[in-house]
Amino acid sequence: MAPSRVLRCCQRGLSWIPVIFINLVVCWSYYAYVVQLCICDKRWLMNNLTVQFIYLVVFHVCFVMFMWSYWKTIISKPSNPSKEFFLPKAEKEQYEKEERPEAQQEILKKVAKNLPIYTRTGSGAIRYCDCCQLIKPDRCHHCSTCDQCVLKMDHHCPWVNNCVGFSNYKFFVLFLAYSMLYCVFIASTVLQYFIKFWTVNTHAKFHVLFLFFVAAMFFVSIMSLFTYHIWLIAKNMTTIAPVFRNGPDKNGFTVGFYKNLTQVFGDQKRYWCLPVYTSLGDGYTFPTRLVNLDSEQGNVDHQADPKRYFCYCLFSTVTYVTNILLLTIFLTF
Ligand SMILES: [Zn+2]
Ligand SMILES: [Zn+2]
Repeated sequence: MAPSRVLRCCQRGLSWIPVIFINLVVCWSYYAYVVQLCICDKRWLMNNLTVQFIYLVVFHVCFVMFMWSYWKTIISKPSNPSKEFFLPKAEKEQYEKEERPEAQQEILKKVAKNLPIYTRTGSGAIRYCDCCQLIKPDRCHHCSTCDQCVLKMDHHCPWVNNCVGFSNYKFFVLFLAYSMLYCVFIASTVLQYFIKFWTVNTHAKFHVLFLFFVAAMFFVSIMSLFTYHIWLIAKNMTTIAPVFRNGPDKNGFTVGFYKNLTQVFGDQKRYWCLPVYTSLGDGYTFPTRLVNLDSEQGNVDHQADPKRYFCYCLFSTVTYVTNILLLTIFLTF
């Protein structure tokens, strides 16, 4: 086997470590909550079978929804641009022979004329991916980790070892929501046990106390990320945002809160909470509110928005500071 292939195999194997880690933590949390707390610890629920039953049912509902949306995010293959976005053979040869960027742009413009493309680079050029040799559809980006162009790409997430984009964005947001619910349920029900240990100093199980801290820490981390993504959905933006240059409108893809929401979750409300595919659209074309106002709506630039970047940094800092505080409290025991 060639060394580069071995290296790629190792890289692919290593990229599953975060997913294995999350799954191990979840399996352990299941054991700590169900076996150690609900079944083995008779003092906590005082042999109250009704409360025990309710806790176990709610726990399993949260657990199943969380795992279902998590694995849907992992196994959904990212959507890639279709054949029509690749340069035809003749144009591709011409493009490769040509060394002047202006002449290359002319070739791309000729091909792009027949494609539903409204966005451009910052300099007004057609967005072309040299790796995949295709004209990028609107909101499509090349992921260097997956080494492919992904439709409506949001980001590459190491925790799911997959690209989060058009094919699985709904699953990803639901995964954040259900993991938060799972943590909130565990933390709030274990809190009574925790307080008992604090005040009465009964012999508390290590698993149960640690469970409280892990659930609280994960909740804080996920909450900031979830809030950020809800804000992105409401504004119809992705973490890689198109910045409109023509005119003051920076939210060109926004078509109103409800319509933005339906683009991700679909138009049938009964499926909104289920990790089944219901997102609207084809991943290539997106309604914009500028379409009838600005004939040059396409002049956009895909850059990181400084304001959005600041919000993201702020969220991350708050998350880390809170986690460190919680960990310090735990370690002082
Ligand atoms: Zn590409
Ligand atoms: Zn990727």
